[in-house]
Amino acid sequence: MDFRDDVNLDTSQVEDVGGSGGGGGGGGFPGGMIIGGGGIVSLIVMVVVFVVSNLGDGGGSEPAQRRPQSNLSEQCQTGKDADQSERCRVVGVVNSIQNHWKQEISEYQPSKTILYSGSVRTACGNADSSAGPFYCPGDQRVYLDLSFFDQLHSQFGAKGGPFAQAYVIAHEYGHHVQNLLGALNAGSSVPVELQADCYAGVWAHNAVKTGFYEKPFTAAEISEALDAAAAVGDDRIQQRTRGRVDPESFTHGSSEQRVNAFQRGYKSGQPGDCDLAELG
Ligand SMILES: [Zn+2]
Repeated sequence: MDFRDDVNLDTSQVEDVGGSGGGGGGGGFPGGMIIGGGGIVSLIVMVVVFVVSNLGDGGGSEPAQRRPQSNLSEQCQTGKDADQSERCRVVGVVNSIQNHWKQEISEYQPSKTILYSGSVRTACGNADSSAGPFYCPGDQRVYLDLSFFDQLHSQFGAKGGPFAQAYVIAHEYGHHVQNLLGALNAGSSVPVELQADCYAGVWAHNAVKTGFYEKPFTAAEISEALDAAAAVGDDRIQQRTRGRVDPESFTHGSSEQRVNAFQRGYKSGQPGDCDLAELG
C-alpha cells in the first residue's frame, strides 16, 4: 500500500483530538444534536450489550491509555509520511477515499475523520473506543480510535495490516455517502451495512485514479480487507461474544455476506452495483 511519495496530504480532513474527550475543534458540533434518528452507525454495532451500557456518559469502564493529540499538519505532509506513520496513513487513506467520492458524486461534501483516544463527545452522544469506529450522521463525521486496529487483531482475530485499516475507514465513508444520498434511513440495517462494505470495495477498485497510490492494490492487500470484513461479520462476533449465532439479530451481515459485498464493489468499481435491494 504505497502512497506516491510526492503527493500532498490534506490534513484538514482529519483532526486528532487525542484523549481530551472533547469534540473536534473544541467549539461544539455544527448541528449540535442527533439528526434524523440516525444514531451511531458503527463498523460493528459491536458486542452489543456491554458496549451500549458504556455509551452515554463517562460512567463505564475506565478507558485505556489516553494519548495527547498530535499535530498532523506538521507531521503528515506527503505520501512519504503516509508510508511511515499510522496517523499519516489515515490521512492519506481519508484523502484518497474522499477524492474518489468527490469525482463520483456531484453532491459530495467532505466529512472529517476525528481521531480520538479513550472517549469522545459527538452529536450522536458520547462514545468510547469500545464502540469501534463509527460514523455520526448528526455531525457527518467519522470517529476512530486507533487502538481499534489492535483490537481488530487481538479480539476479532483479523490479521490486520494497513489495508484492513483502509477497509474500515472506507466502510465508514460509505455511510457518509449513504447519508448524503439519503440511504441511511432506508430499510433494515443489514443491507445498509453491506452497501457500505460494497462502497469500500468501489473505492479500492478506483484508488489509483485518486492520485494517492503508486499502483493498484495487490491481491494480498485485498485479502487483508476481506479478512477484516470476515472478522467483523455478525456471526463471528456473536460466536465470540455469546458462543452461538443468532441470525435474527444480525445487524451488519454475516462474514460471508460482508466479504461478498466488498468484492462486488471491488470487482465492478461502480456504486450502482451496490444496490441496496441486491445486497443482504
Ligand atoms: Zn457500518
